Amino acid sequence: MRKYVMMGVQGSGKGTQSELLCGDLDMVHISVGDIFRWHVQHHTKLGAQVRRTMNAGELIGDDLVEAVVRDRLHDHDWNFGFVIDGFPRNGRQAEFFMETYDIDGVVHLEIPDHEVRRRVLSRRLCPNCGMDYNLIADRPKVEGCCDICGHELITRPDDTPEALDARLRDYHEKTRPVLELFRRKEVVHDVDARPAPDEVQAAIRKVLGLPPSS
Ligand SMILES: [Zn+2]
Repeated sequence: MRKYVMMGVQGSGKGTQSELLCGDLDMVHISVGDIFRWHVQHHTKLGAQVRRTMNAGELIGDDLVEAVVRDRLHDHDWNFGFVIDGFPRNGRQAEFFMETYDIDGVVHLEIPDHEVRRRVLSRRLCPNCGMDYNLIADRPKVEGCCDICGHELITRPDDTPEALDARLRDYHEKTRPVLELFRRKEVVHDVDARPAPDEVQAAIRKVLGLPPSS
């Protein structure tokens, strides 16, 4: 059984790389962000709690994240292993996680902040059908218009340079102690996240000693 943690700032391709890694290796991708989104969409009790927190302009607390992850891991549909992203969020959680699950490896996707800015600030969204675009990698056929429904594309309200800088600062501040703890246990593999997704994936599998994607 393989157990990995995927770490990286927003825009580093963490979700994409986790999916690619799970694909042919029968591992389960546990994305904390996706779990929260699911609860909000399905109007669960937890979803209501998440929505209240976000409406109040606050970040979802580490304790709530931890409870959700514990729940998810208890579901035990990960017989061949898992790749988790969005957790752990602090040193204490990292310690607990290492001890409980005997993590095989931590992939740290490295990407300079200026590249994150370039990637994130080029994102566009169709407010009508929810389709995501990216002016660098995934341009709409007609500038400013959704390929699917033709609606005008918008920038996400929280994708301003100021909001992004705040998120980057918060990420670095929170992640540093987690990475340091994992580094002391010698499980961290730094991978350059700048190349194309398939090249990054190949590099990840190489450092983890896994077979190439089939
Ligand atoms: Zn659309």
